[in-house]
Amino acid sequence: MLTTRFAPSPTGFLHVGGLRTALYNYLYARKMGGKFLLRIEDTDLKRNSQQAVVAIREAFNWCGLDYDGEVTYQSQRFEIYKKYIDELLKNGKAYKCYMSKVELDELRASQEAKKQRPRYDGRYRDFNGTPPAGIEPVIRIKAPNEGKIEFKDGIKGLVSFNCDDILDDFIIARSDGTPTYNFTVVIDDALMGVTHILRGDDHLSNTPKQIVLYEALDFKIPEFFHVAMINGSDGAKLSKRHGATDVMEYKDMGYLPEALLNFLVRLGWSHGDDEIFSLNEMINLFDPHDINKSASTYNLSKLEWLNAHYIKTLPFERLADALEHFDMDFRAMPKGQMLLDMLRARAKTLVELKSSAFIIINEPKNYDEKALKKFVNDESKALCRLYLDALSSYEGAFDASGIESFTMKFLQANNKSLKDIAQNIRIALTGGAVSPGIFEIMEFLGQAQIKTRIANFIKNA
Ligand code: GLU
Repeated sequence: MLTTRFAPSPTGFLHVGGLRTALYNYLYARKMGGKFLLRIEDTDLKRNSQQAVVAIREAFNWCGLDYDGEVTYQSQRFEIYKKYIDELLKNGKAYKCYMSKVELDELRASQEAKKQRPRYDGRYRDFNGTPPAGIEPVIRIKAPNEGKIEFKDGIKGLVSFNCDDILDDFIIARSDGTPTYNFTVVIDDALMGVTHILRGDDHLSNTPKQIVLYEALDFKIPEFFHVAMINGSDGAKLSKRHGATDVMEYKDMGYLPEALLNFLVRLGWSHGDDEIFSLNEMINLFDPHDINKSASTYNLSKLEWLNAHYIKTLPFERLADALEHFDMDFRAMPKGQMLLDMLRARAKTLVELKSSAFIIINEPKNYDEKALKKFVNDESKALCRLYLDALSSYEGAFDASGIESFTMKFLQANNKSLKDIAQNIRIALTGGAVSPGIFEIMEFLGQAQIKTRIANFIKNA
């Protein structure tokens, strides 16, 4: 069965780059009816892996992703790694190297003096004498020292490494017996049945070493897809200084997971000129062979654009759910759906939406100075006074179109036009000169509240 995995090292939060890797692995597994597994690479026991799993689970939950089966923790698998190391030693594919620190330093120094690449010189590769006393050996794999390691990367095409250039007999277990990174990854991917590995191309140079191990262990080599990095707009690798890196910070900033996933899938993958993809569409359309070869650029305005799109178009219930994180319950609010529909057209984030809701829900405490200067004078206030009187005797339907036609008739009767009063009403109702349509706001607020706000405006502005 096609099996992918996400294999983060625990950091306590999920990085956006990590979420993209997870998403690609998830999409491919779901598309192919396969499995998507989670493995925590926590051999460095100082890091808190439980906290990392909680963070990943929280971010996955928020995004609507899930993984299959139990989480695999590398820290619980030392026995398994040891078994395979012993087996490699037994059949002569790995060996103990007793090189001391002093010897290693001497070797380095002489290589440096000759301007050679620092590398292990294989001195214990065929050693079968008496081991030197007092040295705990490291275990090295017998890597091929000539020829090529080649593999067909699903994104980059044929990738070829010269054994002589890149491979030493690299260490697979340290002198304290703990296995090294490349070794644990190979054992786990093989035993977990991983068939397709999609990961960042910062791992590309590990792959030939891992292939050496697959071959030594007689495991089937999976297919590799090395995904180019996400860069910040300055071309440097994405980091904290380009913006948020923790996925959950995006939630707090008012981004919807629909927008974030859509944004991330497009950072590195495309399907024609399409920009908008629901999770189901991604599952149907995604193919890792279509991932771009070149690095992608993180572009916050694109994310904002997508977020605005989803704020505009998601069903009321879904948006109301997301807004609960910001302590807003549009379902419980009288005319909540109307308010949300009025506001969603212009908000780029849920945080913006919340503040524009506050502006309408609460009576303005003060008025925008610039707006007052530009639009308000004695004449405009006198017209507002007349309008307030007229409103008191209005008995027609109190909905946006009813109020609009009443207002137009009022203006006509007074030889005025909408522009003579619209901004004054807007400032009276919201405190500023930018808002959704004034008649919708009036319908939402109701007759009594409008009168209060216009009266306050006449008195205080
Ligand atoms: N643990 C590695 C990382 O977080 C990923 C290993 C892999 O995908 O092979 O970068």
